[in-house]
Amino acid sequence: MDNKFQKIRNDFPILKQKVNDEPLAYLDNAATSQKPQAVIDEIVRYYQNDNANTHRSVHTLGERATEEYEEARGKVQKFINAPESREIIFTKGTTDSLNLLAATYGETNINAGDEIVVSYMEHHSNLIPWQQLALRKHATLKYIELTADGQLDMDDASRKITDKTKIVAIAHVSNVLGVTNDIKKLAAITHQHNAVIIVDGAQAVPHQPVDVQALDVDFYAFSGHKMLGPMGIGVLYGKSKLLNAMPPYQYGGEMINFVEKYQSTWTDIPWKFEAGTQNVIGAIGLGKAIDYLTEIGMQNIADYEHELVSYALPKMLGIPGITVYGPHDSTVHNGVISFNLTNLHPHDLATALDMDGVAVRAGHHCAQPLMKYLGVVATARASFYFYNNRADVDQLLQAIQETKEFFKV
Ligand code: PMP
Repeated sequence: MDNKFQKIRNDFPILKQKVNDEPLAYLDNAATSQKPQAVIDEIVRYYQNDNANTHRSVHTLGERATEEYEEARGKVQKFINAPESREIIFTKGTTDSLNLLAATYGETNINAGDEIVVSYMEHHSNLIPWQQLALRKHATLKYIELTADGQLDMDDASRKITDKTKIVAIAHVSNVLGVTNDIKKLAAITHQHNAVIIVDGAQAVPHQPVDVQALDVDFYAFSGHKMLGPMGIGVLYGKSKLLNAMPPYQYGGEMINFVEKYQSTWTDIPWKFEAGTQNVIGAIGLGKAIDYLTEIGMQNIADYEHELVSYALPKMLGIPGITVYGPHDSTVHNGVISFNLTNLHPHDLATALDMDGVAVRAGHHCAQPLMKYLGVVATARASFYFYNNRADVDQLLQAIQETKEFFKV
């Protein structure tokens, strides 16, 4: 394994601790990532030196805070190769970005009889906003099927996306099945039918290079906390033509042009969608996280994680009594491995693994329709990031073995 990645681990102070007298093997990165010292230091630096409200004050600190906040927007723009920085809206996270879209784009463009297409692998945050919009508007929600090994069925996508479709809302990478969807192809199909494609990139942007222009997506949402940034900050990218035509999401300070007694006008994008005091430190912290990720290189991160999956997946598949969901071919499986052991509830499994210092998640992973589709109520999930290594995988395998022996399963 690349020596550079072994050293990188030292940048993450939280990983140095022991849990239940064992070294911590943090394998819950799909839920949230840990933070490098550089991001932690940046948060302290900002609060010690520059803290002020943005876009309001002409004093020095106010100007500094505004400059740093807007600089962070520029870093996000570059990171996902958006054409313009005004196409980057800061939100609370992926969930907030998608709700914003349902409440603005969805509310104005969806009518009775229209169709919204999602897939069976959507996280609730890219499902419930569309489900509820469809209910409000008497529109139809359609689900793209999955193949037997848990990939998106592209033939079914071509059948489900029709001239009646107004929105296709789809995950770039599944938070359960470890698959990457062919967004470029889905965008082409969507545009053939004059619909818009909205992509949930929560599990993609932290792990692989993402270029919104190459993908030709209309909207793209992701969260800062899954990519080394603070919690409570996220991004919505949208094509400026679409964003300009959308009504505001929330009303209040900083999103207006003129306010009169009985009517108001709105300022330009992106600020039209950023009402009230923003999570300035969140944006600046995310900017620092992007600096850190860029320094390593997103392709290097993707390659390293792939190497880790190629090491872990065959070994996990070799455990008697294990079921691994999603493709069993490690060339198409990302660093999210969901699994179950026969006759053991995933919560018991996760609790037992924690006794051995291994942090995995157990549950429905905010994807209840997918659980039903797979015929399970819950799974355990080990999810990797670039600071994980083979020792973490070995610790997971050993802990699974011990758990099997303890529960005699
Ligand atoms: N979509 C996917 C695929 C996710 O994995 C998550 C986080 N688990 C979300 C959306 C929601 O992200 P957040 O909770 O940061 O809004």
